[in-house]
Amino acid sequence: MKTRTDSQTIRYWDYLDDYAAHRDEYLRICDEVFSSGRLVLGSRLAAFEQKFAGYCHVPYSVGVASGTDAIFLALKALGIGIGDDVITVANTAVPTVAAIRATGANPVFADVEEDTCLMDVSRLEAVITRRTRCILPVHLFGHMVDMQPLLEFANRHGLSVVEDCAQACGASYAGYPAGSLGDVGAFSFYPTKVLGAFGDGGAVTTTRPDLHEKLRKLRFYGMQSGYYADEEGYNSRLDELQAALLDSKIDRLDDAVIARQGLAALYDKGLAGIDDIGLPVVRKECKHPYYLYTIRTKRRDELMKFLAKQNIESKVNYPDPIHLMRGYAFLGYRPGTLPVTEQLAGTILSLPLYPELPKEQAEQVIEAIRIFFD
Ligand SMILES: *Cc1c(COP(=O)(O)O)cnc(C)c1O
Repeated sequence: MKTRTDSQTIRYWDYLDDYAAHRDEYLRICDEVFSSGRLVLGSRLAAFEQKFAGYCHVPYSVGVASGTDAIFLALKALGIGIGDDVITVANTAVPTVAAIRATGANPVFADVEEDTCLMDVSRLEAVITRRTRCILPVHLFGHMVDMQPLLEFANRHGLSVVEDCAQACGASYAGYPAGSLGDVGAFSFYPTKVLGAFGDGGAVTTTRPDLHEKLRKLRFYGMQSGYYADEEGYNSRLDELQAALLDSKIDRLDDAVIARQGLAALYDKGLAGIDDIGLPVVRKECKHPYYLYTIRTKRRDELMKFLAKQNIESKVNYPDPIHLMRGYAFLGYRPGTLPVTEQLAGTILSLPLYPELPKEQAEQVIEAIRIFFD
């Protein structure tokens, strides 16, 4: 079987070691599901939804087909669509914005904090309009947006809050898990994510029974059961196989997060004191699961090339802010509108990090970076 040791490269992300360690269990689950006679919307999904809701300290979760769908359906459940503004950030994965657009609503970008790279809540006042209906904070890299002032602002202005938790499984703010603070939390189980499936998947979380019922209908053609649509809906389901595999992986999620935090601590310690690097900043009320360990440096492109030469993978999340992408030119943003976001795009770099990454490899990464800046 293929494993990390077949290659000299220090991988940015990899799942093959996890697969090698738990192969028997994963294959047993596949056989159970395939032999069960039920492949969609069955007991394995129901069991996972219950466990995932418990993990997020909320009463309800609904499995859907992807993180993008989770955001889209959350907004639809809140009645957001054409003519509405949704405030989010431009330094996020494109799907955040694609999901807003899929509802017909208009994304409005707030600039971000330079040290955390997250939505700067003090900028909300400047971008709110008469049409604003919702705030969509993105818990980027796994670190949570400053939710207390954000929720106060939302309450004051009667706005809904949908948390983009695609990168934030395992995160918390003042003890509240990601996805438990907004009206709806939207999660992705894309393979690279903190809780990753063996393909696509997603989930929404909510504390509100009305939204729970609505979301269950929206993912299933607007139907409660049978062949009758109560309302206009969609098809977005988490299948039995992915649900069963996730149900098994979630039991090891706390350990995986601890492994991520251990590697992050190693990077923190090893890279401390290099003047030209900004290390990830963690709010004191936050638990950070380190989906990504992202540093900031003016010499980013040079450093990235230097690391690549030593077979160390690294990535930029993300190289282009969405408001300046060709596909979103119609939104009418000009360069300079979001100065912090635009500056960060040129300085951020994510280092190799996944739970099975050997400590020695993280140490090699540190060594290479220290040599580069020497
Ligand atoms: C991955 C991701 C999504 C989309 O999730 P998919 O499951 O790939 O559709 C949305 N937002 C953020 C911030 C993400 O990282």
